[in-house]
Amino acid sequence: MLADKDRIFTNLYGMHDRSLKGAKARGHWDGTAAIIKRGRDKIIDEMKASGLRGRGGAGFPTGLKWSFMPKESDGRPSYLVVNADESEPGTCKDREIMRHDPHTLIEGCLIASFAMQANACYIYIRGEYIREKEALQNAIDECYEAGLVGPNAAKSGWDFDIYLHHGAGAYICGEETALLESLEGKKGMPRMKPPFPAGAGLYGCPTTVNNVESIAVVPTILRRGGEWFSGFGRPNNAGTKLFAISGHVNNPCVVEEAMSIPFKELIDRHCGGIRGGWSNLKAVIPGGSSVPMLPAEMMEKECIMDFDWLREQRSGLGTAAVIVMDQNTDVIKAIWRLSKFYKHESCGQCTPCREGTGWMMRVMDRLMTGEAEVEEIDMLLDVTKQVEGHTICALGDAAAWPIQGLVRHFRDEIEDRIKHKRTGRVSAVAAE
Ligand code: SF4
Repeated sequence: MLADKDRIFTNLYGMHDRSLKGAKARGHWDGTAAIIKRGRDKIIDEMKASGLRGRGGAGFPTGLKWSFMPKESDGRPSYLVVNADESEPGTCKDREIMRHDPHTLIEGCLIASFAMQANACYIYIRGEYIREKEALQNAIDECYEAGLVGPNAAKSGWDFDIYLHHGAGAYICGEETALLESLEGKKGMPRMKPPFPAGAGLYGCPTTVNNVESIAVVPTILRRGGEWFSGFGRPNNAGTKLFAISGHVNNPCVVEEAMSIPFKELIDRHCGGIRGGWSNLKAVIPGGSSVPMLPAEMMEKECIMDFDWLREQRSGLGTAAVIVMDQNTDVIKAIWRLSKFYKHESCGQCTPCREGTGWMMRVMDRLMTGEAEVEEIDMLLDVTKQVEGHTICALGDAAAWPIQGLVRHFRDEIEDRIKHKRTGRVSAVAAE
């Protein structure tokens, strides 16, 4: 179990003062100038040593990503963009940081921006996050007033500005290149890669896009050392991590724990167990709605909550949004609902996604009501394979994988529904 002294987010539950005064009392903004004066290379090396992998879902090593930014300016400015467009169903960890511990993020923005030679940082915050936007803007204003942001930020010798941009509620703007398009005032549509943002990102300039949690842990890592952070979790899965646990547990919560914690320990320790006891568990989506669900028998025994273990099970840690479903759950309906979501959120610019999400949703409609033919299950799987890996951005994969997980682990239940035309309970749902 992660000891209190090792928690980075000391105000995750809003029990303390979130203002600058309160943040400083909890150890934030301590020695920031000295960290910056270590220099760009030492900061990036320390981040590499920490083993931090991006917390937005993809798990790409953060220090390595920073090192892709140009060392010498070619006349173009560099930018840090923080992706706070947290819209993945089930995911609400960044919300807690911005609402209760905003100074962890702002201090991280300054240090990370310096490491990438960016004098400006944009935080793109989800349109629905009204209170979080207010909390973050208040914290930014406090920092300007205290000289922690602005010219010679925190007396580091580095000039640094930070801008908060409020999105308009489109899920696709959480995709990094769609986010950049949106920031530039255009329609939020993903760009083809390459070029990657480190070469040509915001306004055609070198840009790194990082998740809120990835940036908010940076100051503590640099204060306590990369070795301290890499001491948590298994090799290649280092650090502490925020888990957002929802669904059929006794106490849904967002909690910071050591990476690689067993699933059972996570749920028993922080959520008071499964509603109705462990024998009542049916399935879990372990990393936000884009990753395939796993059945109870795989989660209960040896499940390790990290990138590599979950990938080996053909699922993923994703955003670490853990959605727990008990025996009362209609898992077909749950995935049907996600299909509807992805169809709605597809930006429509590439054919496999635009057409495929509609196809998948229509077949899911029929599977859910039991009106499909058994042969349609394999036809649906075939459609998911046509979409997966054939689109401009990862939304196509995100729409395909939950269906693949459903068929892989609950084919019997789908066939059973079709064979018995069990439409009584679900027909009302279909009418929604
Ligand atoms: Fe748009 Fe979907 Fe293509 Fe992504 S995969 S660019 S959301 S149509």
